Amino acid sequence: MISRFRAPGFVFWAFAFVVVARSAFAHPSVVVIDPGHGGHDRGGIPGLGLAEKEFTLDTAKRLARILRSRGNTKVVMTRDNDTFVSLSARTAVSNQYSRANAVFISIHYNAGSREGAYGIETYYNNRRAYYLAALVHPRVIQAMESIDRGIRHRGYWVLRANRLPAILVECGFLTNQSEANRIRDARYRDRIAKAIAEAVLSFG
Ligand code: ZN
Repeated sequence: MISRFRAPGFVFWAFAFVVVARSAFAHPSVVVIDPGHGGHDRGGIPGLGLAEKEFTLDTAKRLARILRSRGNTKVVMTRDNDTFVSLSARTAVSNQYSRANAVFISIHYNAGSREGAYGIETYYNNRRAYYLAALVHPRVIQAMESIDRGIRHRGYWVLRANRLPAILVECGFLTNQSEANRIRDARYRDRIAKAIAEAVLSFG
């Protein structure tokens, strides 16, 4: 008799747990956004008219705004103005969240010695980060209708000294005339931020 009355209650609580667990763990609770360069470090290559640091900050702010508007995601930025932040300071910020369900996204724009270089590439340093890269990269390529330069393994400091799943997205070449023209358009930066946000929110 008792078990017959208890069964529906158990089913209810099991269902409730699944619903709560899904909403709590379905996507990262913290996203650390790292706009590349800043301050005296303009990024890019010598002689490049466009300052990479400005485009990285602008894109990062757009990404932050989108993530914050989607509810219960905490957004942390390694810089939110034009100041120099060392690489170790960037990973120190990130590593504070190593016990949280958190991810790290570094935003950069590329510079090539060859003017023809065009497209987007995503870097990672370990297996957990690869899963994140494999979600973000194709989504970005599709949204931007850009050239896929691949998901690449690299030992960049902000990736290898990071305890979070960490990726670095090179969002296009400032040294390519036509790609730079696209990047200068705020709509490009908004679209790439949106694509990254959607992919990040599906990670978990
Ligand atoms: Zn850079």
